[in-house]
Amino acid sequence: MKNLGIYIHIPFCAKKCPYCDFFSVSYSKELVLKYTDAVIRNLIYYGNSENIIDTVYFGGGTPSLIPADCIERILDALNVNFKVSENPEITIEVNPNTVNSQKLRDFYNMGINRLSVGVQSLVPSELITLGRTHTAEKAVNTVTDAVNVGFRNISCDMMIGVAGQNIDNIGYTIEKLSELPVTHISSYILKIEENTAFNTPDIINSLPDDDYISDMYLFMVSALEKKGFIQYEVSNFAKSGFQSIHNNKYWKCEDYLGIGTSSHSCFGNKRFAVKPDIKSFIKSPVQDIYVTDENPCGKKEYAMLRLRLKEGLEIYGKRFSYPEIIPKIQNLINAGYINFDEKKISLTPEGYLISNSIIEYLIF
Ligand code: SF4
Repeated sequence: MKNLGIYIHIPFCAKKCPYCDFFSVSYSKELVLKYTDAVIRNLIYYGNSENIIDTVYFGGGTPSLIPADCIERILDALNVNFKVSENPEITIEVNPNTVNSQKLRDFYNMGINRLSVGVQSLVPSELITLGRTHTAEKAVNTVTDAVNVGFRNISCDMMIGVAGQNIDNIGYTIEKLSELPVTHISSYILKIEENTAFNTPDIINSLPDDDYISDMYLFMVSALEKKGFIQYEVSNFAKSGFQSIHNNKYWKCEDYLGIGTSSHSCFGNKRFAVKPDIKSFIKSPVQDIYVTDENPCGKKEYAMLRLRLKEGLEIYGKRFSYPEIIPKIQNLINAGYINFDEKKISLTPEGYLISNSIIEYLIF
């Protein structure tokens, strides 16, 4: 029997953030109920007893925006139609403005045991710049409330490369987050995506330049590590024992099944996706998928994904061997971009900053 992660996409948001290009639609109770029914229909369709579900991830959109009983119905359907491991990691993404103590307690009582809180920053001016609707105080209270109802595994998202941000601001957010019982931090560099409100010359010109963003990134890695958040992936940091089991599946080429509009899967030896169309998802008896890769997790893709991880890439691994890259690595070691211990190579934080070029040079 193989372990399987389940990703459930909940595409509703209260307000579109100006930097975000994820698929999302406005909240409507009627639509949410129909969407929940459609997710459950798909769980029944895909249900099997050949896999053991060891992780479930509710992502979005804003999953915490929809009524807790919709999430509970989805989890019930999962439990009925799949074999679920004894202690699965069950994560829900939470936007601070969409929860209170009661809703967090409901999530906890239905078996959710990990929160991913969209904090982004604890500097008030940065939250305004990012168009977020919550305050720093609300974000802190959300974490505190979550702990009070029983959560012990809490991840917070933060963002660097924001207009007007400086290294002191990043230090402040890290300091404040580390005073909370947070176990995991995901930190992303703001990227301007094409179809977003941030894609204007004024916004683009107001962003920190690339050199300063590199300084911010290296500072962040070191500041987080000083607080006990050890880097395990380009953008992810965890206290000991709190790496995301679900997200590790993406980087380790393990199986995951996505349900919902715009979800992605690596399942049944194929990568496939669902188009970002909520009406069609609700109407179709089974989600309409299109295959994006007939032969996923080949040698190159495996190496590319593994090099995102601090664990790195084994030169002679169980799945693939890469002796051909050894002659290429000495100059990268000398430049401080990679670590090599005779068995594995991994990127340093400096290497992560130019990871695309390094991977291109080593693998392609
Ligand atoms: S960043 Fe999150 S809350 Fe904002 S629009 Fe995107 S998915 Fe919704």
